[in-house]
Amino acid sequence: MTRILFVTSEVHPLIKTGGLADVSASLPAALQTLGEDVRLLIPGYNQVLDALKVKKVVATFSVFAGQAPVKLLSAKMPHTNVPVYVLDAPQYFCRVAGPYQYQLGGDWPDNPMRFGMLSKVAAMLGSADSPIDWQAELVHCNDWQTGLTPVYLQLMTAPRAKSVMTVHNIAFQGNFDRDWIKSLEIPVAHFNMHGVEFHGNLSFLKSGLQYADRIVTVSPTYAHEIQATEMGYGMQGLLTARRNEVSGILNGIDEDEWDASKDKHLEVRYDASDLSQKTQGKLALQKRLGLEVNEHTPLLGVVSRLTYQKGLDLLLECLPTLLDGGAQLAVLGSGDAEFERRYLQLAQRYSGRVSVTIGFNEALSHQIMAGTDIFLMPSRFEPCGLNQMYGMRYGTPPVVRRTGGLADSVINASLDGGTGFVFDDAGAQALQQTIKWAIECYRDANTFRRIQLNGMHKDVGWRHSAQLYLELYNSILKN
Ligand code: ADP
Repeated sequence: MTRILFVTSEVHPLIKTGGLADVSASLPAALQTLGEDVRLLIPGYNQVLDALKVKKVVATFSVFAGQAPVKLLSAKMPHTNVPVYVLDAPQYFCRVAGPYQYQLGGDWPDNPMRFGMLSKVAAMLGSADSPIDWQAELVHCNDWQTGLTPVYLQLMTAPRAKSVMTVHNIAFQGNFDRDWIKSLEIPVAHFNMHGVEFHGNLSFLKSGLQYADRIVTVSPTYAHEIQATEMGYGMQGLLTARRNEVSGILNGIDEDEWDASKDKHLEVRYDASDLSQKTQGKLALQKRLGLEVNEHTPLLGVVSRLTYQKGLDLLLECLPTLLDGGAQLAVLGSGDAEFERRYLQLAQRYSGRVSVTIGFNEALSHQIMAGTDIFLMPSRFEPCGLNQMYGMRYGTPPVVRRTGGLADSVINASLDGGTGFVFDDAGAQALQQTIKWAIECYRDANTFRRIQLNGMHKDVGWRHSAQLYLELYNSILKN
């Protein structure tokens, strides 16, 4: 049994802005099922403190010189019972608004201290100086918010844990002014291009990539893509140099949370044996969203951060033709103000055909996944992507671009066992043609049913990938 600390800045159902939260909930649970002693470490945001009803203080200690001591709370994750440690430092984490940003959308200016502290506490739990009577053998870090952990581990008293750095999105790097190294107590000797420095700044992500024992990305294709200039966001040189220590493991999904036959967010539940129930859910969704209620109208769905990465500008370009051709669209998302404005404008122009909901709404995301016919994910890049897997599992075949985890998880409908519709070119024309093709398939009930069922029967759970992570941990610990 390996003692694994999984450190993350968000975890469902306590706090979520995107796919990282889903993975942070479901991968540790899958590792626990495999018999490992896996525990989470997360920041004590108010949402987390409110949601965890039973928790106890297991340590009070100081992290950085001159700062108030922090508390470590111990609790169990709802539903799974995975142990979770909460870093209770109210001056940094008890704030109204998001985990990374304040209400107007700007980043919290002290994010380096907030996530530097999280990184350091993770390293402490993996060192002989652990403030509790448990010491991790392996610390699994996730994204830039935990990128300094491998650096701090090197500075701790041995025996020290080994570390794995999973990159969920290399575009988010946590690059900050170099002055932060003083208050974060990183020795100046580490501030160079072979250390924590990235173009004159302190880079949390680069630090993790440089110092972790192994680097993982969330799909095999993305692991290759980020070693090339276009998708490496400046980290490609480092990644290529460490290519033998970089691998890709495709994320799985939580098959209990995303199960249309028992989904608590759905009025009408269904499974592969009776898809007529899915149609009932579609009619309910059309009604709820103020769309014309008609079971034969192809209903397209989007649940996404509204950003350039997700290719949603390409979609805006081709929507008028598709909508004029008789399709409907249901969008749920938030993000760039300009995208939000343009989508809302579209909803106004196509009242009854387009519904746009701005915001984060877990229940509606499940209802759209279940109630639409075709799910759209035209991402320019996509490290893994989870929504396409939710779509397949809910009998809502996705239209995706062949990139990253989309390429690794969706089989094109032109092939045997096809589960969705795949295009290559990051352009509006290719997207439009592919959506049109998907709609044609939708109108041919037998063909469409086959694609739906292929997706619904596809294994998108964690069993296989959790086993791959475990093999990776074991190979690091053996060395
Ligand atoms: P990313 O992490 O890049 O945002 P993923 O597809 O990996 O994209 O995961 C996104 C997760 O966040 C999914 O669980 C998706 O359903 C959820 N999500 C995204 N936007 C919203 C929203 N506006 N409301 C509810 N859930 C959302």
